[in-house]
Amino acid sequence: MALSLIEAQPGVSRADLARALGFSEMAATRIVRELLAVGLVEEFEDENWSRNQRKRVGRPKTGLRVVPTSLYAVGITVSAFHSEVSISDAAGEIQATRAITNPNFESVEGAAQIYARALKELIDDTEIDNERIVGIGVALSARTNPEKGEILRSEYFGWSNDDGAFCDELRKILDLPVEIENIANAIATAEMRFGAARASREFSLVHVATFVGASIVSESRVVRGASGFSGLIGHIRSQKTELTCVCGRNDCLNLNATGFGLLSRLGKLDQPKFDTSRLSDYASYLLDVLNDADAACLVTDAGKALAPAIDSMGKILGPEMIIISGHLGANPTYFDGVQTALETEFGHARAAPFLLVRGTISPERSAALLALHAFCYSDRLDYDRLAKISERRTARHG
Ligand SMILES: [Zn+2]
Repeated sequence: MALSLIEAQPGVSRADLARALGFSEMAATRIVRELLAVGLVEEFEDENWSRNQRKRVGRPKTGLRVVPTSLYAVGITVSAFHSEVSISDAAGEIQATRAITNPNFESVEGAAQIYARALKELIDDTEIDNERIVGIGVALSARTNPEKGEILRSEYFGWSNDDGAFCDELRKILDLPVEIENIANAIATAEMRFGAARASREFSLVHVATFVGASIVSESRVVRGASGFSGLIGHIRSQKTELTCVCGRNDCLNLNATGFGLLSRLGKLDQPKFDTSRLSDYASYLLDVLNDADAACLVTDAGKALAPAIDSMGKILGPEMIIISGHLGANPTYFDGVQTALETEFGHARAAPFLLVRGTISPERSAALLALHAFCYSDRLDYDRLAKISERRTARHG
């Protein structure tokens, strides 16, 4: 909690910490001493304070901040769009990335091995101290059980329960703890800690790419429901189409407000049924469409088709904000379509019931940030390991 607060409010003092966390100042001082000892945080002189208070006598105010290079987290984004492995510092800044040019999603184990090896190469090629890597975050289009490290189901990749096979492969090759999360939940977690939802405890995030899915956050936690499958808005009823959804219906939101629906309207699909062996084609067609000015009207229409679902989410959940993310969702033309329809057809121009926000964190960046959330800014931080690294370093340098 203390480390999270220092990360969120650089310059915070020990007294502020004690007040915010409800500790005695002595307790706060002891915690800060431990964080300072392993180099996770440092004290600095707040320049703004010194400038404003120049005429005053006494010590300038010292504040606390996280040391970005004190630890690192790594991420794997399993996607047909930009498959990527990355390394983030403790401040959430991406230090290195590598694209996976030829991902293969046929088997869970095979896909895990491709990503794990690429990540291992990236780690070896950078000069980052391996010992300071706290864990791996995985973001993918699948429903997962992060606690058990299992993929429950992915309609998108055509995978069913993997019994933890994906995470097992990663641990075998990289020997690091793994947090695996649905892509909408991963981006929502990253937006909450490092992005647009920093100050929000109640918000939703809608991820739009080939298909659409949502993440619901309440009291700063991802809501999973009793089934573990919350946020499946892709199968909400929308207009009838010529297409067939993975669920067998022809009127799902997945077929209207998404990249898949857009490609159909542009005549880019050679068959009306979603085909998991064509994921890479769908992704590359969609990226082309977003660069094509002639397609702008259809992109706007796809955005408008999302608006009824967004309005319903607002009414059911009462969030402070709804973030629209993903390779299609965060596209300005698409986002504008959503916003326009909410304003003109749902009365949001007169009184907006929630903030509509364009996503600030890309799916690729979210994976490593998810790992920071899970293994650095949480009670799963392995303090003893960091303490040992510091001890060894002190011993080496006398
Ligand atoms: Zn469906």
